[in-house]
Amino acid sequence: MRNEKLHSRLSWLDESSKDLTIGGMTLHELAERAGTTPFYVYDRGLIAQRVRELRTTLPQAVKIHYAIKANPQLAVVQYLASLVDGFDVASHGELRIALDTGIDPKDIGFAGPGKSIPELRAAVCAGVQISIESELELERVSEISKTLNRIALIAIRVNPEFELKRSGAKMGGQASPFGIDAGEVPRLVAKAREKGLDVAGLHIYAGSQNLDAASIIEANRLTFELAVELIDNCKLSLRTVNIGGGYGIPYFENEQALDLPKIGASLDALLQEHEESLKSANITVELGRYIVGEAGYYVTRVTDLKTSQGKSFAVVDGGLHHHLANSGNFGQVIRKNYPVVIGNKLAQPINSNPISVVGPLCTPLDIVAHSVQLPTVEIGDFVVVLQSGAYACSASPHQFLGHDRPVEMLAGQR
Ligand SMILES: *Cc1c(COP(=O)(O)O)cnc(C)c1O
Repeated sequence: MRNEKLHSRLSWLDESSKDLTIGGMTLHELAERAGTTPFYVYDRGLIAQRVRELRTTLPQAVKIHYAIKANPQLAVVQYLASLVDGFDVASHGELRIALDTGIDPKDIGFAGPGKSIPELRAAVCAGVQISIESELELERVSEISKTLNRIALIAIRVNPEFELKRSGAKMGGQASPFGIDAGEVPRLVAKAREKGLDVAGLHIYAGSQNLDAASIIEANRLTFELAVELIDNCKLSLRTVNIGGGYGIPYFENEQALDLPKIGASLDALLQEHEESLKSANITVELGRYIVGEAGYYVTRVTDLKTSQGKSFAVVDGGLHHHLANSGNFGQVIRKNYPVVIGNKLAQPINSNPISVVGPLCTPLDIVAHSVQLPTVEIGDFVVVLQSGAYACSASPHQFLGHDRPVEMLAGQR
C-alpha cells in the first residue's frame, strides 16, 4: 500500500515492488554481502542522479564540490571523484581521502577552525586551497609556505554579516569561530599579499540543511554582493568564489523537497548581473547532504517484540551508536522520526496500532522510530531507516556500549 506521507518526501521510492531494492539488490542479497546486519548501504545510482540534477539545473558555469564530512566512506568518495568538480575537506583524514582519489589538489578546499600545523603543512605541500579562518592561521600558513618553499594557495573564509535564514545550522550573521569577519577581510588580504601568499579565493558559507529556496536565493544574493564588494575593494583577481550551499533534504513529515530550479534560475541571474567583477572566478557550490543524504539506507533486523503497558515495541539490532542523527541526538531540538520502512513488506497494509522501534543500547535515548505506523512487524523483518546517507554512520558514537561497527557498502552498477 502506497504510503502517501512518505511519498511526498521520497519521490524516488518505488513502493510498487514488494521488497525494497537498493542498487538493484534485495535486502537479503545485501545482508549476504554484508555478512551481518545492521549495515549501511549507499545507492550509486541515486548519488549520480543527484549530481546530474545539479548539473542540469544549476548554471553550467557553477562548479560543484562535494563536502566529504557528509559521508567520508571511501568507495563513495572515490565514486564522487568522477562526478564532481572538487572536494571540500575539514581534517587531515579527509584531506588524505580526497588526495587518494587522484583529484587535482587545486580542486580541494580545506576549511575548518584550528587546523593543526601538520594539517597546514600537508595542505601547503599538496597544493590544496586553504580556507583561512583566523589571522594567526594566515601567519602559520605563511611560515609553512616559507619553510616548504611552496606558494600556498589560500581562500579567505568570510564570516558574513547575514545568515542563511530557516537553516538547520546557521553559520553567519553572528560572532563565529568560522572565517574572518567581513570588515577585517581587506586588512588580511593586504597582509597575505605582503607575505607572498596566493589569495585565490573567497569562501562564504552561511548555513546548512535548508529546504527554503527563497532563503537560499536571498543568501546567494547577499553572498554575491559581499564577494563583489571585496573583490572590488581589494582589487582581487580570484580563481574561485565558494558561495556555500546549505541545500537540504526532506527528513520529516510535512517537509518538502528543495525547489532546485528556482535556485538555478536565480544563480543564472546573479552570474549575469555580476559578470564583470567575477570574470576570472569560478563560482563554486559546496554540498554534502544534498548529494549523498538520500542515497543512504541504514538496515537493521528485528530481534525482539514486546508489549509494555499496552504499547508495542520492536527491538532491532542497530540504533543510536550507528545512527545518532536518527535517534534525534545530533542537533535536533525536538526529536522527530526519520522515514522508516519495513523493507521486506513495502506492499503490505499498514497496521493501525503504532509501534516504537528501539535499538539494543541500555539507554532510553536509543530510539529508532517513536510510535510509528508500519505493517505488522515480525522477528527477522528488515527495519530500514531512509535518508541515511549523510551525517549518519561517520557522525555516530560507535564505541558507545561496545557493539560492532556497521558494515558500509556501495551498491549498484556504475
Ligand atoms: C558542513 C559543511 C558543508 C556541507 O554542508 P551540507 O549541509 O552537508 O551541504 C559545506 N561547507 C562547509 C564549510 C561545511 O562546514
